[in-house]
Amino acid sequence: MHLVMIGGSDAGISAALRARELDPGADVTVVVADAYPNFSICGIPYYLSGEVTHWRNLAHRTIADLEAAGMRLRLDIIARRIDAAARKLLVTSADGAEELLGYDKLIVGTGAVPVRPPISGLAGPGALGPGDGVHLLHSMGDTFAVMRTMQQAAPASAVIVGAGYIGLEMADALTTRGLAVTQMEQLGEVLPTVDPELGALVHAELAGHGVEVLAGTTVQAITLAAPDQPGRLQVEAIAADGTAVTRLADMVLVVVGVRPDATLATAAGAALGARGAIAVDPGMRTSLPDVFAAGDCVITHHRLLGETYLPLGTTAHKQGRVAGENAAGGDREFAGSLGTQVVKIFDQAAARTGLRDNEAVAAGFDPVTVGSVADDHKAYYPGSHRIAMRVTGDRGTGRLLGVQLFGHRHAEVAKRIDIAAAAIFHGMTVDAVSDLDLSYTPPLGSPWEAVQMGAQAWVGETQRR
Ligand SMILES: Cc1cc2nc3c(=O)[nH]c(=O)nc-3n(C[C@H](O)[C@H](O)[C@H](O)COP(=O)(O)OP(=O)(O)OC[C@H]3O[C@@H](n4cnc5c(N)ncnc54)[C@H](O)[C@@H]3O)c2cc1C
Repeated sequence: MHLVMIGGSDAGISAALRARELDPGADVTVVVADAYPNFSICGIPYYLSGEVTHWRNLAHRTIADLEAAGMRLRLDIIARRIDAAARKLLVTSADGAEELLGYDKLIVGTGAVPVRPPISGLAGPGALGPGDGVHLLHSMGDTFAVMRTMQQAAPASAVIVGAGYIGLEMADALTTRGLAVTQMEQLGEVLPTVDPELGALVHAELAGHGVEVLAGTTVQAITLAAPDQPGRLQVEAIAADGTAVTRLADMVLVVVGVRPDATLATAAGAALGARGAIAVDPGMRTSLPDVFAAGDCVITHHRLLGETYLPLGTTAHKQGRVAGENAAGGDREFAGSLGTQVVKIFDQAAARTGLRDNEAVAAGFDPVTVGSVADDHKAYYPGSHRIAMRVTGDRGTGRLLGVQLFGHRHAEVAKRIDIAAAAIFHGMTVDAVSDLDLSYTPPLGSPWEAVQMGAQAWVGETQRR
């Protein structure tokens, strides 16, 4: 049995590892467009900040580890065409040599590509790029380009276009590196994946660390600045009230999201779904015979929303594992995502799982969201922090639909959102969250865990209404 994976990141490597685990005799080949298989691209901001001291440290596993697990790595090879009927994959190496790889099962893990928004100066003839200090950020190659700009041009200032989680992590990273950062976000508040009430707390944390935050500001053009200007790039934007905004900076980072890289599968005739991602069934099978797909290139089954597109590393690992298991002859299904995520912004963390009001309405629920605040542990023990919470439940059934948290990075925000994620995963009501038997000792918690206090605030508020 010859299994071929296209892509050597979270999805492709998870699939290869699982297939080899289940069938140690399987012949597994992983085709990777670059030379960096199994790198933690989620860790890129922490290498760029200087906190992770060498890019090699971002590797989940070394090439030797991967080969020892039994996979054949074909690095710097690009998959060009899938012939699903003949079960053959056309690949080209860096010198242009073509080769046809036969397979019994194929797993597509081509991931996502960063969105290039319609900003003048970013596309077309004369477009600015890494050599000018203008960067997109997704791959290790992009990371090396940013590092080259930092080392060779020693930028003193940066504009970050976009304030989603990667934009925020990079605002933290570049500030930590000593750059003066301006963050521009088209929507009305930063971190638009949480409610504006929590987004405002993130905004305050950024501002408190010296980041100039311009929400409601749409970037329109990036140009080279005149030579006598304090900054080699000029960013022109427009504020929500129509005012023109201009900033000069030595470097511009554009991080406004990703789109699925489904080119190969589309050309082979695979059916597509949400946002142009490859359609897969719960077993990660595409519409093509013997072709599976996983990770940022495929649709995501959301447990409350159904089919969606929600590219996340945790999801790519799980989907890859399911694809690898099934390609090796198993029968497993991806159980679905809740979009659980967390981001560190300087000394704080913001997290969410499940649905916010507007999403819940779209999914046919009758949501109520209640905000509350609780201590992460007993306030009499030193070092306690307040956690701001927003709990969303369905008015009619009382079902827990979503939770959002904001609190100090040492307030266990990430693990607390996981309590909520587990509760939503198992269809619990908000009220039943109070019944969970959770741990307690004063330096680390409270008799009523913070998430349980948020749930009780929701129950109290909805009973009063
Ligand atoms: C800066 C940053 C921070 C992030 N932080 C988080 C986080 O904190 N938490 C989280 O859950 N997620 C995070 N993510 C998202 C997460 O990294 C992705 O969801 C995940 O890496 C997707 O994995 P993937 O294998 O599907 O695709 P990708 O990581 O995009 O990898 C695609 C792979 O396919 C290869 N490839 C593509 N086309 C071809 C071809 N034609 N031939 C051969 N090879 C090909 C590429 O070289 C690569 O190896 C972050 C992403 C970034 C960029």
